[in-house]
Order: sequence, then structure tokens, then C-alpha cells
Amino acid sequence: MPIAIFLAVFIFIGLLWYRRRNPCRWERVGGKGTLKQFRCKTCGAVAYSARYDGPEQCKKGLEPPAL
Ligand SMILES: [Zn+2]
Repeated sequence: MPIAIFLAVFIFIGLLWYRRRNPCRWERVGGKGTLKQFRCKTCGAVAYSARYDGPEQCKKGLEPPAL
């Protein structure tokens, strides 16, 4: 069944892409109501999000690099 192999590879690539898009591991540190405060375990950035699993992107990547 080549289709099964193709499907498995497709899912694997999709998982890799998803992890690459959201590499941060958000830990909920506070916040009440709909807006919750999260802290990134990877880079230490603090962000607010209404989502249960944290912001979609790392806030650190949005800032320009300080040289
Ligand atoms: Zn981060």
C-alpha cells in the first residue's frame, strides 16, 4: 500500500512543520479571566494569550535582534 506510506510521511512532515512554527513551551504563570499570562520555558519571554495552550508564536522572535 504506497498510499499508507505516503500518508504517514505527510503526517510526519506536518508534525515537524507544526513544531517548527511553535517551538516554544509555554507555562502558565498567572492571569485571570480570558487573558492568561504565559512564560516561555525555552527563551523566557512573557506573553499574554486567551488560548489555553499559550500564544501561537514566540514573542521573542517578533522583536528585532539587538546587536
Ligand atoms: Zn520562546
